[in-house]
Amino acid sequence: MAETTVNRLNSDMKKNHIENLNPYEIVQIQIEHAAEKLGLDRQVVEILKKPQRVIYVSFPVKMDDGSIRVFEGFRAQHNTAIGPAKGGIRFHPEVTMDEVKALSMWMTFKCGVVGLPLGGGKGGVVCDPTKLSKRELEQISRGFMEAIEEFVGPDKDIPAPDVYTNAQVMGWMMDTYSRINKAFVPGVITGKPLAIGGSLGRNEATARGCVITIKEAMKQLNKPLEKATVAIQGFGNAGRIAARLLAQEGCTIVAVSDSKHAIFKPDGFDVAKLEELKQHASLDQYERAERITQEELLTLDVDILIPAALENVITSKNASQVKAKIIAEAANGPTTPEADEILNANGVLVIPDILANAGGVTVSYFEGIQNMLNYYWTEEEVNSKLEEFLVRAYKQVSKLAKEYHTDLRNAAFMIAILRIKEAMEARGWI
Ligand code: NAD
Repeated sequence: MAETTVNRLNSDMKKNHIENLNPYEIVQIQIEHAAEKLGLDRQVVEILKKPQRVIYVSFPVKMDDGSIRVFEGFRAQHNTAIGPAKGGIRFHPEVTMDEVKALSMWMTFKCGVVGLPLGGGKGGVVCDPTKLSKRELEQISRGFMEAIEEFVGPDKDIPAPDVYTNAQVMGWMMDTYSRINKAFVPGVITGKPLAIGGSLGRNEATARGCVITIKEAMKQLNKPLEKATVAIQGFGNAGRIAARLLAQEGCTIVAVSDSKHAIFKPDGFDVAKLEELKQHASLDQYERAERITQEELLTLDVDILIPAALENVITSKNASQVKAKIIAEAANGPTTPEADEILNANGVLVIPDILANAGGVTVSYFEGIQNMLNYYWTEEEVNSKLEEFLVRAYKQVSKLAKEYHTDLRNAAFMIAILRIKEAMEARGWI
């Protein structure tokens, strides 16, 4: 019998040790898995497996000590069949072009699964914000926007915050774009400060969306959310706010970590105290908490595990030890395909990143609408629309997963791919 593409890929993965694959190779495998299940035309698969455009830039910045340093950055635009590209900009010392390409692809499918009229984009600048002054950070933000200015805009590509970038960075970038274009253009970027066209609820949106999908998953498993135990890797925008919202739902947050520390408290943390320590001191100063390793956090016996930091943390090496019943991927790409297989076999319900963390881009989409209308919604309106969009997306994904006897990740990719395919057909691309 002829070997299928997926089988061939799977055996290649095993030979080449999938764990060594980078996120760009992993997302291509995820596309192949969904395409196989859909019996998709190869031409469509080949279009989806590559970004439409990748921009590389370098730009000089005058540092505080008077020296000039040259920074490098990337912007990838994966697929704009449904609408302008949309996706964050991360500042991180280890950003690579392949990582940005992969992240832009996940953005296309994320928008697709929620049904947003947007494509996928992502950007990154190679820098370590923890070693930069505020002035240097501003110069890098402005320098990068100046370098990519001709390729972005409300109708082309709309960036947003990601790892180690925030509303202030978006504000500087929006100002640079507006100055170059001699107009007030808030719609060029989302996740902005409220004073210049940001949306209420955007800061909490990724975590809130993650919590909405967890609630749906718990309903699916017939388990109460109240008193569920939770471990969270990463205590930034996504992880910290997810901890706060889940604690408000009555969950017990038993473990959290950031890049420096992982801590465990079986009877639960006071999340407000954790937030205060994170801001003014250090997580490990929490009294009577046990210090654990990042690895131990991922394999704790909890109901819900939320990876909310970086990629490739749940791998073939630790997946079989994961005891959580639900993994809600607040981070992008935290689980490798090989780990996915192990988790599925062990009955762990994985809410895939393109669904679990889609709250951020959904409210970014709302922010863009508000910018276009120049009319702003209340936080309640934003949150209730977010809930409507994500509950609908979760239900569609879960229904398709049942119909095709597949997992939520594959079903989410399938829904997104079908929507993108329809748009490409309508435009005559295929
Ligand atoms: P952030 O910069 O606010 O926080 C990142 C957190 O991860 C920090 O607490 C940092 O200390 C921690 N961290 C970094 N390296 C770590 C490591 N090796 N081990 C443990 N913790 C580590 O970033 P964020 O916006 O919260 O993004 C986190 C993840 O969520 C990323 O994968 C990002 O792409 C994804 N995401 C974010 C948004 C958003 O709107 N912010 C939207 C969708 C997806």
